[in-house]
Amino acid sequence: MSSQAEDALQKIDITLQKNRKRLAEIDALLANNEQVKQAQQRVDHANTTLTPHRSKAKNLELELQTVQQKYKTSEDRLYSGVVKNPKELQDLQHEMDSLKNRIGTLEENLLEAMLLVEESTEALNHAEAALQTALRASEQQNRELVAEKKQLSQTITTLTTQREAALIGIAPENLKTYESLRPKKANQAVAVMRNCSCTLCGIEQTKFVEEAVRKGKELVMCLGCGRILIEMA
Ligand SMILES: [Zn+2]
Repeated sequence: MSSQAEDALQKIDITLQKNRKRLAEIDALLANNEQVKQAQQRVDHANTTLTPHRSKAKNLELELQTVQQKYKTSEDRLYSGVVKNPKELQDLQHEMDSLKNRIGTLEENLLEAMLLVEESTEALNHAEAALQTALRASEQQNRELVAEKKQLSQTITTLTTQREAALIGIAPENLKTYESLRPKKANQAVAVMRNCSCTLCGIEQTKFVEEAVRKGKELVMCLGCGRILIEMA
């Protein structure tokens, strides 16, 4: 009976669809792990915070070295005995005082900058550790997902073979009707008739329809929902 074959096809198609849907979910999960993504964002953020502190500290360090070098040069000059003019000596002393002040300020700023570097480095280390944890968890989860994916692919291959076998029992025009009904009927193109009524929409069929379904020589549509009616043996 051809309508029985359509029912078998429908069962395969529904299972196939479920499997394909889960497969797509797994692919999406594998491509996009929210925990890892968030942990990575925190690492990126920590890096973005650290970089300017680090370069500021580096610049202050270089500037401090330069000013210290200048001070040293002036100091050497002061104690060398080369400068004898009192006005010139006074100027040199002023310059050294000013350099000393500058060194003090730079040292303070450098200390602040280094503290910020230390804090942001610590934050970055925490974020990186959290990322590693998230990656390990994802790896574990992925192992399960990958195994499930493999299982699903095998099931889909089996179902596809079964579908091909089921198609042999179906007349091409009936298959065409079935395929065109599927998307319109939430993938359920076939409905079982019981006690002269459609089990999906509940509409009672006429004697004429009932007879035709019983004979099973051609496809008979439910008077209510328009699905292919079959009678279960
Ligand atoms: Zn119906």
